[in-house]
Amino acid sequence: SAYTASRAGQRRGRRVGFPRFKSKKRAPLSFRIRSKTSAAGRAGIRVGERAPRTVTLPGIGALAVRQDTRRLRRMLAKGRAKVVSATVSHRAGRWAVSLACEAADLHEARRHPPKTGAAGWVGVDRGLSTFVAAARADGTQVLRVDGWPRPARAAAARQRRLSRKVTGKQRGSHNRAKAAARLGRHHARVAAIRRRFLHQVSNQLVNTHDRLAIETLTITGMLGNRRLASAVADAAWGELARQLTYKQQWRAGQLALVDRWYPSTKTCSACRRVAPAMPLHQRTFTCQACGYQADRDHNAAVNLAVWAEQHHAQSRDLPAGGPVTNAGRGEGSGSRTRAGETGPDDAGTAPTPPGARRGRPRRALSHNSTEL
Ligand SMILES: [Zn+2]
Repeated sequence: SAYTASRAGQRRGRRVGFPRFKSKKRAPLSFRIRSKTSAAGRAGIRVGERAPRTVTLPGIGALAVRQDTRRLRRMLAKGRAKVVSATVSHRAGRWAVSLACEAADLHEARRHPPKTGAAGWVGVDRGLSTFVAAARADGTQVLRVDGWPRPARAAAARQRRLSRKVTGKQRGSHNRAKAAARLGRHHARVAAIRRRFLHQVSNQLVNTHDRLAIETLTITGMLGNRRLASAVADAAWGELARQLTYKQQWRAGQLALVDRWYPSTKTCSACRRVAPAMPLHQRTFTCQACGYQADRDHNAAVNLAVWAEQHHAQSRDLPAGGPVTNAGRGEGSGSRTRAGETGPDDAGTAPTPPGARRGRPRRALSHNSTEL
């Protein structure tokens, strides 16, 4: 559909080419199996049947998995969840199985408590020298992450060496395939280091702060700057924003997206005067009008918080199309939930007050990925 829309001029961005066919040789190898229930009422995909850490797939049998399956097994046993399908994929020498499940909502007591209170918005400035600077509108610093791993830069020499080993081998040979697999594992490792770091940062932010404001960055535009491109790509700001978005949804927190034209770096967070553009190497912000001096990234973070305070006040009910609000976990599971016979009487489910339902599909699909 992306291809046809692109051809018809109904799709923005770069032209999308004709879809490629799945390759038997190239990663990611993957396939999906649906869970059909037998006439006897037995599900096709079963978890923990042979041993606790196994997943049984139709036609394949029981597979040992690495990850703990306890919570999923308990939900399945209680009829609070149902496996819809399993996707088996192969990446960088490892097989993984992801189970798509239909599940009832968590009981209110088990949900993350909304962090109510006077705490306002926290501005989060993403940068290259300081990875993340977070501050409140009143100027208090909340979090500052100066060092970050720069995984791709650290691994660049090894990557070049491994790439050379691939191109030095004869095309189509087994040795070339082995060298390519080695390079693939290297890339997967770099990605894993980056992902782990981003999860640590995003967890720190969402665990303690209810309302976060980040700038919408034109990352594609920044990648056009050849001096910055590799560092910008390595920083994976887009991935950080994605993680913050879904983690705030889980926790009923809010994420405000600050307009990208808002001059967060150039504005004085003390007197609100907008100064002329600052070159990147200038790490300290000095106000020409009031003499206020602060770290560049801290000043920007404060300004982002100020923007969010002005545009979103303190209300919890925000207009649609604004920041990401609660994803709707507050909705209990009614009798129509396919994920089982979980009614209001169910010990693990909160009764749904009439009228409390929000416009959200009743089926909740969640992915539970586990490594083989
Ligand atoms: Zn000033």
